[in-house]
Amino acid sequence: MPGITIDKNRCKGCELCVKACPQGILSMSKTINIKGYFHAQMHDPSRCIGCRICAITCPDTAIEVHANGTVFALFDY
Ligand code: SF4
Ligand code: SF4
Repeated sequence: MPGITIDKNRCKGCELCVKACPQGILSMSKTINIKGYFHAQMHDPSRCIGCRICAITCPDTAIEVHANGTVFALFDY
């Protein structure tokens, strides 16, 4: 099953990934990260389709996508 990992302390709270996810399963947390930003979070992991749009969209490379045992980092795109 595909999924993602968000490095919350790299996140600057721009919300681009939240708007880009075609499944609408990303949202902003109600807690702040080490930089003082409300960070992105996944709220429904079971619906992730591994499309990687969130990771491609993130300007701070804070998201990794996992699918079929492979981790896709930004430099893979
Ligand atoms: S990989 Fe696709 S479906 Fe999964 S969280 Fe990212 S944008 Fe949404
Ligand atoms: S696109 Fe990246 S920096 Fe912006 S909210 Fe999402 S994870 Fe954070």
